[in-house]
Amino acid sequence: GKGSKGPRLITLMPGDGIGPEISMAVLEVLDAMKAPLIFEPVDVTPVMNSNGQTTIPDAVIESMNRTKVGLKGPLMTPVGTGFRSLNLTLRQLFNLYANIRPCKSLPGVETVYGDVDVVTIRENTEGEYSGLEHTLVNGVVQSIKLITRSASMRVAEYCFKYAIEMKRKQITAVHEINSMRMSDGLFIRCMRDTAKKYEKEMTAAGVKYEEVTLKTVCLKIVEDPKRFDVLILPNLYGDIISDTCAGLIGGLGLTPSGNIGTSGAIFESVHGTAPDIAGKDLANPTALLLSTVMLLHYVDLPTYADAIEKAIVKTVKDDNVRTIDLGGNAKCSEYTQALIKNLK
Ligand code: ATP
Ligand code: MG
Repeated sequence: GKGSKGPRLITLMPGDGIGPEISMAVLEVLDAMKAPLIFEPVDVTPVMNSNGQTTIPDAVIESMNRTKVGLKGPLMTPVGTGFRSLNLTLRQLFNLYANIRPCKSLPGVETVYGDVDVVTIRENTEGEYSGLEHTLVNGVVQSIKLITRSASMRVAEYCFKYAIEMKRKQITAVHEINSMRMSDGLFIRCMRDTAKKYEKEMTAAGVKYEEVTLKTVCLKIVEDPKRFDVLILPNLYGDIISDTCAGLIGGLGLTPSGNIGTSGAIFESVHGTAPDIAGKDLANPTALLLSTVMLLHYVDLPTYADAIEKAIVKTVKDDNVRTIDLGGNAKCSEYTQALIKNLK
């Protein structure tokens, strides 16, 4: 999508708990910048389909199919039998095959590591999470790690294009080939083939490619997170390492994410609904704002993305206006207003 053909329609799923409050903060910030986006709010409260399975309302599907781009707050998945995770439902409905998490230290937020800037790109549809498990005989179960060339190639394609466009320094493909010869072998071959395909563009942009085993990544990333730049991983490794990276920058609360699909994308914060502080104007909207930054890059509006990112740093670091989770006493609305003042 280009930002030049008039305002871009975006499906807004405010979500549950603190979702509506942090979504409101995002809308106010975008409104103050006069960003050329029009948000279409939809309610993701689960409904039962004819098979007695929970699913999301038709209005959500209809809106997403039209706009192709969604911004989503945290969703509460009701516990109990028959309830499928709504996030899983969304992933399947919109073919969200890649999960992207930029983990970048927020200047002013003290963490053990200082300056971290790692992006994890995770295959999101197969691998160890293909959901293919069964009992062979009593006491023996089998779980299938499914790796396909097509799924590996599409996530690779996204990763290499992303790294080139975002002018990243290095792509690290993560594997455990010594024990997973065929499956990780195929995954890595797809990464290698894609690296070859984009060789010229990578050289021009200064992006390098390497392959490192999972155990080495685990060791090195906690010794020195600067050792890595963009990590591309199969599903399970990606699930674990992406949370590790969030921890490196001070937890899930500041981490945005993007779910890239075959015909669209959904951007969301990584944190949950925070029921303990919901409705009290205490939530930190930063993760959803950073998800919006990702969304703005996705729809080719990088100048708006950069403006939000700079304003966040100014507000937290220079003005020291922080929500309670970052050791401050600003309400969500106060933080938002301070941030809006910093947009110019
Ligand atoms: P869910 O069941 O939706 O996952 P949860 O309580 O298990 O909710 P989180 O919502 O991630 O998990 O919350 C964990 C803790 O972090 C809570 O104490 C919550 O208040 C806090 N928290 C999470 N997100 C934010 C935020 N955006 N701003 C401030 N505090 C937050
Ligand atoms: Mg939780």
